[in-house]
Parts: sequence; C-alpha cells; structure tokens
Amino acid sequence: MQLIWRTDDSGTVRKGTMSGPRPVVLSGPSGAGKSTLLKRLMKDHEGVFGFSVSHTTRSPRPGEEDGKDYHFTTREAMQEGINNGEFIENAEFSGNMYGTSKAAVENVRAKNLICILDVDIQGVKRIKESDLDPIYISIQPPSMEILEKRLRDRQTETEESLQKRLEAARIDMELSKEPGVFDIVIINDDLEKAYEELKKILNEEITKVQEAK
Ligand code: ADP
Ligand code: 5GP
Repeated sequence: MQLIWRTDDSGTVRKGTMSGPRPVVLSGPSGAGKSTLLKRLMKDHEGVFGFSVSHTTRSPRPGEEDGKDYHFTTREAMQEGINNGEFIENAEFSGNMYGTSKAAVENVRAKNLICILDVDIQGVKRIKESDLDPIYISIQPPSMEILEKRLRDRQTETEESLQKRLEAARIDMELSKEPGVFDIVIINDDLEKAYEELKKILNEEITKVQEAK
C-alpha cells in the first residue's frame, strides 16, 4: 500500500491512496486522562492499535521514551521538518511545539492497525482540513477543579506550565462543546465507565481489525 500526500493551493495536506481501518483522534485538556485510557486500550487489544508518535520540543517526563511516547526534538529540527512538508499538522501548546509527521501515521497504517492520534484542539482543526477522516473523540474532565487536582497530583508540571495548561483547558472545554467538532465527548469521571464508553465507540473498528487477522 502506498500513501501519497500532497499539499493543495491553500497549504492543506491531502492524502492520496489510503485504506485500512479508520484512525482515531483523541483530544481533550491536558490531564483529562487521554494517556491513561489510551495505554489501557492498547494493552488490552494487542496488535489492534498503533500510536502515532508525535514530535515535541518539550522535555521528556520520567518514564517517557524517545520514539515511543514522542520524538523529542529541538525547535530548529522540527521547524526544518515542517518547512520540508514532513508534517500533517503542528501546533504551539503551553510554550512548546507539537506535531504529527506523515511518517508517524504511515508507520501505523502500513501495518493495517488503527492509528491513534493524541492531539490538542488546534491539531483537531488541522486534521479536519486533511483527508484523514478519523473518528474524533474528546476526553473531558468532570470539572476544572478536578482537572487541576489531577494535574497537580501527576507532579509533571512546574507552576508556570500548570497554569498554561489550565488556561488551554478552559479554551478546549468551551470549543469541544461546539456541535460537530467531535463525534463523541466522554466525561472521564469514573475511569472504568469512561473506558467502557471508549471501547463501545471503537468496537466496530476493533472487530474489523481482529477479523482481518
Ligand atoms: P492526559 O494524557 O489527558 O494529559 P493523564 O492520562 O496523564 O492525562 O491523566 C492525568 C492524571 O489523572 C494521571 O495522574 C492519571 O493517573 C489521573 N487520572 C486519569 N483518569 C482518572 C480518573 N478517572 N480518576 C482519577 N484520576 C484519573
Ligand atoms: P503533553 O505535553 O501533556 O504530552 O501534551 C500536551 C498537549 O499536546 C496535549 O493536549 C496533547 O494532546 C497535545 N499533543 C500531543 N501531540 C500532539 C501533536 O502531534 N499535535 C498537536 N496538535 N497536539 C499534540
């Protein structure tokens, strides 16, 4: 299977031939629980999902692996990749650059796996302009207060980074209410319930991949 990407006159990345299961975009405020749900989903369904490994200029957190959680890079290197047309989308979030390379998605789709993209709301908007045609899922916290507590308890952010993330979360929570942006919004209050809801939405695609084996 060969994937052909082209950029049209408006600068939008369009893909040519592409087949296989529909990709999935997981979005929502930082600290809402995307990684927690995603890791569990991938562990429970081995050989079904593949993670689109994004690039970022932020520093790795303890336990994060280069090439697995992210491709950790510099602003200069990432900007060069963007200038060379290597990215489907990229965004500035909380003082760092993040982006999805074409190769990240192609690597997963070449294996005929369901490609999962974890991107912020800016990424969602850019992907909507592409031909990727994913299922759009938003993971939301029950409230700002609970989100703040989860982010603080995670102990990964400085106070400055935490405040930036909370500000971005306010915008995300407003935008995700707009009709038509997401196929489904999951409120991650009780983790078990949120996980069951996520599996239910993805059931059809999961079955397709399992049956194709
Ligand atoms: P994200 O990937 O969206 O930034 P994480 O998956 O890292 O968020 O979750 C943020 C923190 O909240 C983590 O420490 C995680 O263990 C915790 N968490 C996630 N879901 C729940 C939940 N339903 N109830 C309580 N804590 C949760
Ligand atoms: P974190 O630093 O917590 O891993 O991620 C911060 C935010 O960046 C999250 O909202 C996450 O979804 C988003 N993000 C991660 N990778 C990408 C990407 O490739 N593109 C975009 N637009 N956002 C991303």
